[in-house]
Amino acid sequence: RKFVYDFSEGNKDLKDLLGGKGANLAEMTNLGLPVPPGFTITTEACKAYLESGEAPAALRDQVSEHLAALEARMGKKLGQADDPLLVSVRSGAKFSMPGMMDTVLNIGLSDESVHGLAAQSGDERFAWDSYRRLIQMFGDTVLGIDGERFSETLDEAKSARGAKTDVDLKADDLKELVGKFKSIVSEETGREFPQDPREQMDLAVRAVFDSWNGSRARLYRRQERIPHDLGTAVNICSMVFGNLGPDSGTGVAFTRDPASGQQGVYGDYLQNAQGEDVVAGIRNTVPLADLEQLDKASYDQLMQIMETLENHYRDLCDIEFTIERGKLWMLQTRVGKRTAAAAFRIATQLVDQGLIDEAEALQRVNGTQLAQLMFPRFDSNGGVKDADQIGWGIAASPGAAVGKAVFDSYTAIKWSRSGEKVILIRRETNPDDLDGMLAAEGILTSRGGKTSHAAVVARGMGKTCVCGAEELEVDTKRRCLKTQDGRVIEEGDVVSIDGSSGKVYAGEVPVVPSPVVEYFEGRMHAGADDADELVKAVHRIMAYADRVRRLRVRANADNAEDAARARRFGAQGIGLCRTEHMFLGERRELVERLILADTENEREQALGALLPLQKGDFVELFESMDGLPVTVRLLDPPLHEFLPDITELSVRVALAESRKDANENDLRLLQAVHRLHEQNPMLGLRGVRLGLVIPGLFTMQIRAIAEASAERKAAGGDPRAEIMIPLVGTVQELELVREEAEQVIAEIEREHNVDLGLTLGTMIELPRAALTAGQIAECADFFSFGTNDLTQTVWAFSRDDVEASFFTAYLEKGIFGVSPFETIDKDGVGSLVRSAAEAGRATRPDLKLGVCGEHGGDPESVHFFHDVGLDYVSCSPFRIPVARLEAGRAAA
Ligand code: PEP
Ligand code: MG
Repeated sequence: RKFVYDFSEGNKDLKDLLGGKGANLAEMTNLGLPVPPGFTITTEACKAYLESGEAPAALRDQVSEHLAALEARMGKKLGQADDPLLVSVRSGAKFSMPGMMDTVLNIGLSDESVHGLAAQSGDERFAWDSYRRLIQMFGDTVLGIDGERFSETLDEAKSARGAKTDVDLKADDLKELVGKFKSIVSEETGREFPQDPREQMDLAVRAVFDSWNGSRARLYRRQERIPHDLGTAVNICSMVFGNLGPDSGTGVAFTRDPASGQQGVYGDYLQNAQGEDVVAGIRNTVPLADLEQLDKASYDQLMQIMETLENHYRDLCDIEFTIERGKLWMLQTRVGKRTAAAAFRIATQLVDQGLIDEAEALQRVNGTQLAQLMFPRFDSNGGVKDADQIGWGIAASPGAAVGKAVFDSYTAIKWSRSGEKVILIRRETNPDDLDGMLAAEGILTSRGGKTSHAAVVARGMGKTCVCGAEELEVDTKRRCLKTQDGRVIEEGDVVSIDGSSGKVYAGEVPVVPSPVVEYFEGRMHAGADDADELVKAVHRIMAYADRVRRLRVRANADNAEDAARARRFGAQGIGLCRTEHMFLGERRELVERLILADTENEREQALGALLPLQKGDFVELFESMDGLPVTVRLLDPPLHEFLPDITELSVRVALAESRKDANENDLRLLQAVHRLHEQNPMLGLRGVRLGLVIPGLFTMQIRAIAEASAERKAAGGDPRAEIMIPLVGTVQELELVREEAEQVIAEIEREHNVDLGLTLGTMIELPRAALTAGQIAECADFFSFGTNDLTQTVWAFSRDDVEASFFTAYLEKGIFGVSPFETIDKDGVGSLVRSAAEAGRATRPDLKLGVCGEHGGDPESVHFFHDVGLDYVSCSPFRIPVARLEAGRAAA
């Protein structure tokens, strides 16, 4: 098997094999861009190593061959004493995992070849600086020595010399530092720093393979739902140097602004520096535009390359480059991460530029991004004006975040677990802060640019982030933040950060709805001249999605207000009106009377009192959804939910009894509570079972629906009610309900002399219903999959308990990447949905199929329901735009 590819042998479509970085280096090489020569070890080699603990036998020889070719091309050998070839060894998985895995630079330097490098470059300082970097990186990532040991030693050397930055250290200082670093290696590992360049390289490759399974990388993959079995590729690339003096440097660039999508020159440049210095935010960078003054030729060439890349990839690209003594080298490119707002804007810009069509534009955005854009933000007119601004940084990842200041990840996690909202404040973040960043509402750093670790990772997570707020001084030891005018924000003080403007405030700043929500609400028009660019882009993309989608989108709503909002958001009906809320509040007493009724007369009285109230609810709902279907589900939850709490009532009765003034009604109530008490109420007397056991209950509800429909018709309306029976397990249950329903409906239709056009269907939310769907369809006009209960019953996971109890452990162990209550479990629950849909349609080809569980608004699940051939998804009003978009993406 071929385990090693020269850069010129690959291309951008080989990401599975060469990883993202390797595939794109190959693509750039083939585009004729200046990429330093090198080769890529495949993910297959990594997988073989991780499986057996040994690198595959053929790998060593293949590496030797490619290395020899590289050496021949460069005219020098790896680590050659008088003129060493140096290489970098970098990880590069299929999906980008910023900062998660290892990189080692300057492989090939040794006690001997450092002199060769000094002679060849004519720069002794540079050679020793490169060597100390090698030992430091190698010690940390390959040998597993705590990186602090090196950085502390470096800091000591700096303060001994009164040096402000690394650059102020002289060759002799660095030579001394190399000696100290080597002693750290031998102290910590019991052996000397390896002098054989090939051994350095092989160990580094192995370390990169191992880093795939590091805890940081595993956590990141779970979070991003990247499979654990892909492995990483390893790129071995001849070194170019950005630290050869002021005419050298290194930088990061975007072909457009990854925060707003605006076209222009975006990036950071650091003169006289090597690779990781920029991303790590260790020294402060200058804006890329300044490069034009520093080195016009390289700047112009870079601009041209960026244009080539954008046109070639037809998308925003991000780039890492190095300038070595005035010569530009491309070290990396990829289709760049971007904020949600930028994703929408870039997609429409590219359509306008003719680079992509509308169908492709739909694939460039997703529902998760749209959901992010619907988050509230700080009030730019009211609240923010009066807010107490204490600093200003780079708007790295948008949103408005408010929380208590914390200064380390441990506290962030601890406080957020106890329900506090926190803002994680660091000088700069590194991969060890990942858990803390996840736990925080937002992240604030005082160092680093738009491409710093904090910025890149926060954008990926969709977390609000302000970075590089330089005038704020972060004191992690004292756990406080000092402002320029000497004020101090202590741990636990509330701060607000605005990831869209970069502003930092003391105290809590009020938030307002997002413009995208204002647009969906109809309070902002995309057509207006002064309309927000983002709103215009969202409007266009939603129009594409609506044009191509096959799935219809309905709302889960049970009052006129939600229904009206759902309609504004584009709902094409109500897929689930839960009627249980209509039995709460003041009506609870009527339900109590119904439950306590001893005689038929008492029961009828209670139902008679409920009927007009129910009817009133439906009249309102049908009016707000006039002309669109409204699926009304009959009462579902167990009756005890409408009764007083068993313990409280027992205490009350016991106290009353001890005072000898027990009230007759309380005693009867207590008996009823005992009678209805269940160990497993979710598996007990609920849904259709209630309807069959409590005489008259469902009939009353059906009557209310029918009478409300008749009233709306009489008023000239167009009500389209669909009656839905919950928790059906067998067709016999449905037959009994249907018989009674048909009688009541016929009676009311005769009385009002109208055809109400009511249909009657069922939820499919029990495994038995799904398994016998063919029979059930004989008696149902429609199915609506209740994937909440179906997930609960298929997995035997109590939906009210498991997420708080053992799901974290399950997620950590990778049993699933996401809760099956959030994203449909395709293989289990989903396969029942699929087979039930097929069986139902086999019985009744015109059977209408929908889903009304929470999954109806989940992006990934919407694609599944599209594939299964459902007619509609139904979800909460706020998720309707997300469902519309994803339904469009599924069909495009
Ligand atoms: C379901 O079970 O998926 C459903 C929509 O009903 P509920 O959530 O009300 O049980
Ligand atoms: Mg249910």
